[in-house]
Amino acid sequence: MEKPPKFVEWPIWDDQERQALIDVINSGEWWAGAPKSQAGSHHWRFQTEFAEFNGSKYAFGCTNGTHAIEVSLLALGIGLGDEVIVPEWTFVATASSVIAANAVPMFCDVDPETFLIDPQKIEALITPKTKAIIVVHLAGMPCDMDAILAIATKHSLRVVEDCAHAHGSSYKGRKVGNWGDVGTFSFQASKVVNAGEGGAIVCNNEELSQRIYEVLDCGRHPGEWFYNHYTFGSNYRLSEFNAAILRTQLKKYPAQLALRNKNALYLNGELKKIPGVHPQLRKEYVDTCAHYVYIIYLDPAHFHGIAYPEIYKNLREKGIPVDDCYPPLHTIECFTAMRGKPGIDYSGANWGGVKSAPGHFPVVEKIHAHAFQLEQKVLLSGRDALDYVVAEIASLK
Ligand SMILES: *Cc1c(COP(=O)(O)O)cnc(C)c1O
Repeated sequence: MEKPPKFVEWPIWDDQERQALIDVINSGEWWAGAPKSQAGSHHWRFQTEFAEFNGSKYAFGCTNGTHAIEVSLLALGIGLGDEVIVPEWTFVATASSVIAANAVPMFCDVDPETFLIDPQKIEALITPKTKAIIVVHLAGMPCDMDAILAIATKHSLRVVEDCAHAHGSSYKGRKVGNWGDVGTFSFQASKVVNAGEGGAIVCNNEELSQRIYEVLDCGRHPGEWFYNHYTFGSNYRLSEFNAAILRTQLKKYPAQLALRNKNALYLNGELKKIPGVHPQLRKEYVDTCAHYVYIIYLDPAHFHGIAYPEIYKNLREKGIPVDDCYPPLHTIECFTAMRGKPGIDYSGANWGGVKSAPGHFPVVEKIHAHAFQLEQKVLLSGRDALDYVVAEIASLK
């Protein structure tokens, strides 16, 4: 194929988003913090709508996906002296929010086919200090929650699901975010439901839901006097403007989700025909994948040893929207240099200094060296765009 086809533009929006913002301005209700104004606000209605969308009892809007994890950890009582297991291949926020909560993240290598936290490697990381596991449904692909919950139950660990990529992803008939104690979402500009910034926390336990609310709204209880602060929380509230945009984006999302899955299944089928091309494995237990991105590992034995910088460059030159993959956590400077919070002992961590040297997390290192990810624009585009991408990947040989 000669010319790159048209890829869908991101973000996707129209007059509904514009009108939603104007309506907030005209209403004069520019925030949703005061209990009196809660009932009619976009913030509070969005929470109800998001809970319904996700099949969760409780949902709370918050400032962003990073804070959603931080608030969850604080609400679960995780803090000083605790360790939290996180996957190696994720955005820094999964681990930096553990640092923010005064705890120590411990890194777990990933599965070579799903690229998700490898349940078989979790138990070796558990110490008497371990309090929780944060799993990440990377690119929207659901983790093997049964295996993870079995380990968590055995060792009395809490489970936070980082669903920043996984709005609407479903595992064994139930949406992600409902398997662990808490599910966290991001609505940052690149995420599949987008308000520029924003986040949400879901859970199904009433007591925990109260703790979450306290943490994110200054220690208050919903509906009570504004100057009653029962515990030390902070202000992690979602903006009313963002909530208004989110309500319109969420209405458009189910159709996009269906298209993402249809196109990803088509790509899976076509790419299978090219030896050495390994898209992120979609296991039988996956009903729906949000496909924030579409990750592909190219076996270097079939692709003259091609490394990621060359893959990115070649495909971008062909006009294909390719995203950088996350660097493995242990290779990022804040971790290699063991920077952290003053007064916290990170010496028990399995990263930093010599522990960040190559070879300690062999699977993620190998995959990352030869992987790339197609942006969600590709998954929302037409068949001609998909065929072009497949042909150009084949031509990297
Ligand atoms: C984006 C992201 C976050 C953080 O979300 P923000 O809204 O950007 O703070 C957390 N975890 C993962 C895996 C992400 O991709």
